[in-house]
Amino acid sequence: MAASTELHFLLVPLVAQGHIIPMVDLARILAARGPRVTILTTPVNAARNRAAVESANRAGLAVELVELPFPGPQLGLPEGLEAMDQVAKDPITFFHALWKMAEPLEEYVRALPRRPDCLIADACNPWTAGVCELFGIPRIVMHCPSAYYLLAVHNLSAHGVYDRVGDDEMATFEVPNFPVRAVGNKVTFRGFFQYPGVEKEQRDVIDAEATADGLLINTFRGVEDVFVDAYAAALGRRTWAVGPTCAFLTMDDDAKAGRGNRADVDAGDIVSWLHARPPASVLYISFGSIARLPAKQLAELARGLENSGRPFVWAIKEAKADAAVRTLLDDEGFEERVKDRGLLVHGWAPQVTILSHRAVGGFLTHCGWNATLEAISYGVPALTWPSFADQFSSERLLVDVLGVGVRSCVKVPAMYVPKEAEGVQVASGDVEKVIAELMDDGPEGAARRCRAKELAAEARATVEEGGSSYSDLTDMICYVSELSRKRSLTSSTALHMPFAAAELV
Ligand code: UDP
Repeated sequence: MAASTELHFLLVPLVAQGHIIPMVDLARILAARGPRVTILTTPVNAARNRAAVESANRAGLAVELVELPFPGPQLGLPEGLEAMDQVAKDPITFFHALWKMAEPLEEYVRALPRRPDCLIADACNPWTAGVCELFGIPRIVMHCPSAYYLLAVHNLSAHGVYDRVGDDEMATFEVPNFPVRAVGNKVTFRGFFQYPGVEKEQRDVIDAEATADGLLINTFRGVEDVFVDAYAAALGRRTWAVGPTCAFLTMDDDAKAGRGNRADVDAGDIVSWLHARPPASVLYISFGSIARLPAKQLAELARGLENSGRPFVWAIKEAKADAAVRTLLDDEGFEERVKDRGLLVHGWAPQVTILSHRAVGGFLTHCGWNATLEAISYGVPALTWPSFADQFSSERLLVDVLGVGVRSCVKVPAMYVPKEAEGVQVASGDVEKVIAELMDDGPEGAARRCRAKELAAEARATVEEGGSSYSDLTDMICYVSELSRKRSLTSSTALHMPFAAAELV
């Protein structure tokens, strides 16, 4: 692998925590194998991820974080609004601004003394394609959802199912030509950018994937073998399953606690609190960086949790800004009543620090793909509470395919719940029931826990030397090395190409 020591990768994540976190993980993993890695993102996102990059540097890894300006203010967006979790309204203007990042990216690349060997772009950043074409840089697309979801959306589209159901978003269908039986409707199988106003962006995403030099998926063959192979065959692109990136556990405690953002709680305090609890007794609750529960639903969840009598840690980001939630927690006394067994994190929690603690025995999750991979990698059975996008697919994978989850019985994204229900899909009594089922000490609970531990062992083995994700990454690095060698031979004979002169020196 001598050639890889000279390789330089640019990584361009989508500006959302669920996409930057695995890219920063990937940067560490790549750098540990030899290449030099530069992560390009906006100032707000860079600040949130600097701790993880600095920890990589302390470990001697050549990872660099470079800021590119976010063009939001040019389109009237407020200064500092640079990440998906900050977008309360008008996502369309946000995406238009994101697409304009091609300009600062081009400027950055033009000023480099030597052409990078590869650019890895999030699948939602197709605007990088033109820059790569201009400078002759090989481009790999990185997918952050599961292969299950990618294949389902691809097949539904290729077989005309979305067109057939049209506006009837609740019409039930079965995913055609799929390795397992999967039944749902448009609202639980919606593709990224599959809504009015971003049709051009959706086409760009599809085109950029079809012309990429290869595809990376943050998953592993132990859980998604058939879906990865079927997706690679459907797209006809070289595809590498290199995850789960979160199972690459070489980061120090500080970096782990500050993954994706500075935690709003002292990680050491949480660890001490968990140390005082019996193994596998605590339920951890988080809805990720974007999904928000309607106030009434949140109150039902709180009541169910209280009545369950279980110890829990709840990352309740709504507590920071939502007055109704503060009233529930403070004025109505929820936090005080549960204080002997419930720990509330008002904001960003050190999620992998919590999930990797042996006291945690269940994870009530919104089924974001990273949360799903973290549950799998740390061997924690899941209580699934999906909210939107690929989350219903992750639920199906956890419960129906892998057998490590229990459904909370959420049926649709909150916006599709009839008005009179005020967003409530799971009443407090049902919350209590499903928590009891997940944390159950009987044979079903034991089998689920045992399966979860087996998958966690597989997840760790797959990223170590000899594992399939390790081999896929080796293959990807060799492929880039070969592409790069061929392209520099071509550019050294074509002096009009950018970088050609510099590379001849
Ligand atoms: N996360 C965290 N603390 C929080 C909330 C989320 O560390 O309080 C991390 C979580 O570990 C995961 C990522 O943020 O790596 C969220 O990605 P995911 O795909 O689970 O969901 P999304 O936020 O994209 O919906």
